[in-house]
Amino acid sequence: MKVTTITKELVNRSSITKNGEGEVGMFIASLMHDHGFKVITQNVKHHGATGFNVLATRGDSLNLLLQSHMDTVEPDIKVDEDENAIYGRGACDAKGPLGSMLGAAIRASKEGLTNFGVLATVDEEETFSGAFAAVDLLKPLKPKAIIGGEPTEFKVVGTEGLKGNIYMTVGFNGENTHVGKPGEKNNALVKMSKAVIALQDLNDNHALPFDKRFGQTILNPTGVERTPNAENVIPAEAVLTVDVRTSVNNETVLSQIMPIITKIDPRARTEIKLSVDPLPPVDIEAFNLETLKKLEIVSGVGVQSYVAEPHAWFRAGIPAVIVGPGDTALAHQPNEHILKSDLLRGEDMYHSMLREACS
Ligand SMILES: [Zn+2]
Repeated sequence: MKVTTITKELVNRSSITKNGEGEVGMFIASLMHDHGFKVITQNVKHHGATGFNVLATRGDSLNLLLQSHMDTVEPDIKVDEDENAIYGRGACDAKGPLGSMLGAAIRASKEGLTNFGVLATVDEEETFSGAFAAVDLLKPLKPKAIIGGEPTEFKVVGTEGLKGNIYMTVGFNGENTHVGKPGEKNNALVKMSKAVIALQDLNDNHALPFDKRFGQTILNPTGVERTPNAENVIPAEAVLTVDVRTSVNNETVLSQIMPIITKIDPRARTEIKLSVDPLPPVDIEAFNLETLKKLEIVSGVGVQSYVAEPHAWFRAGIPAVIVGPGDTALAHQPNEHILKSDLLRGEDMYHSMLREACS
């Protein structure tokens, strides 16, 4: 199967994170099984959805593991194609890079190479539960290095380190009363609004930690839910979602944020959905891949807030960087697409990495 066809098949199967990635997982599992790979699936419960990681390997160890994610953001965009490109949700982030990886692995296998694999994970767009679960799956195989597939325009991301991330929800308490009752002051929504302004001020005044390597810590309130959700009732609860891209260890950042929340509502319920500290730089020599060394390296981690699955691989002690076909600016966009020429170039790039690592 051609890499463009594989990518189309991936895009054609909906896999929005919260709905689960089962259909895409099943396609990959059967494709790789049919090409002689040993396929292991690993169930990962996330967002109440069914999803499973797919690990397809040749041989008993892993000189190199190619890895990308199966889930996409909302909303779905139907697959389409013309002469030059494949369109649709996930075409660029990250089903294009994943398609190139699968194509490269099949080609390498046909050439008789062994001791490599492809890992397709779930839940990258939200909490990385797929990658963190896969750490256990990979332990016995001791991968020497991991190449992560994301749309980076063939530039290497992660050698200079990556910012950390805190993704949290904070539930503010009020009293559930009808709007007609006079004098009611205990409104969860009002408390939450005060917190939004106080936290945004922290961000806007550059009061959050700065680091020479990782730059400014960036905080953004990103979502609101209230209960009950009715126009004539003062809400008893309002839940705020906050995303923080950290440049120092997360504990330090949280020690600055938490007192602000507690001052506004001492009974506020904070739930840390994800916490990964900033990642130290990775030595490109550790990969022992000429193909990788020839690529352009993205520098200036201080100005970008790119967070991805290498955090999980770092915890497992496996060196990892990200590089793949596709334009970063098209990820998550309504006109998401990937050039067919990029898919082919991606396949060639991953393939030559496999040849170097496994011959
Ligand atoms: Zn992605």
